[in-house]
Amino acid sequence: MKIVNVTESLAEQKLDEIIDSLGCCKCDQCRADIISYALNRLSPKYVSTDIGRAYVKLDTMSSQFEVDLLAALYEAAEKVKKNPRHH
Ligand SMILES: [Zn+2]
Repeated sequence: MKIVNVTESLAEQKLDEIIDSLGCCKCDQCRADIISYALNRLSPKYVSTDIGRAYVKLDTMSSQFEVDLLAALYEAAEKVKKNPRHH
């Protein structure tokens, strides 16, 4: 059985949407660091099926969740900009 953290999927989608406005590096290392940092500040939401995933996606994309997600991503981007781990 496959377990998915939908918060992770949503954070990756949202980062793709807003990365141009963040002014940060877009390399794989920095993107992974931004996602990790943001996910540590957000509540995980686990689902076990693709159907559940689609359902939770709709359910969790409330305006408050989106605000929290954006805030976490912006803060993460600032942190990674100051301390990039890429070469
Ligand atoms: Zn980078």
